[in-house]
Amino acid sequence: MTGPIQRVPFDVESYSRRSRTGPCFVCAIVDRDPAQPEEIVYDDGTHIAFLARFAALPPGVPYEQQQYHALMAENGVVEHTPEEAAALAAEIRDALAAQ
Ligand SMILES: [Zn+2]
Repeated sequence: MTGPIQRVPFDVESYSRRSRTGPCFVCAIVDRDPAQPEEIVYDDGTHIAFLARFAALPPGVPYEQQQYHALMAENGVVEHTPEEAAALAAEIRDALAAQ
């Protein structure tokens, strides 16, 4: 991300509608559905980790301030491009591989 972090309102109504009428997003991610293009950072066949589509925290938020803030939709979300998500996922995969 470049420039100041911009938060945008989280579209709760759209999210709720999609959650109630669409397929399960976790199953879609596991099935590698192209309509659910979340970046997968870890997959050992039993466990999977992926980046959230709706990032809630900009980089640098102190740990003690992260816990509930990330769950509060009224704080908005941080938009990111697919390229930014791919770069972050690559960094995480590299860090995991280095352990
Ligand atoms: Zn599911």
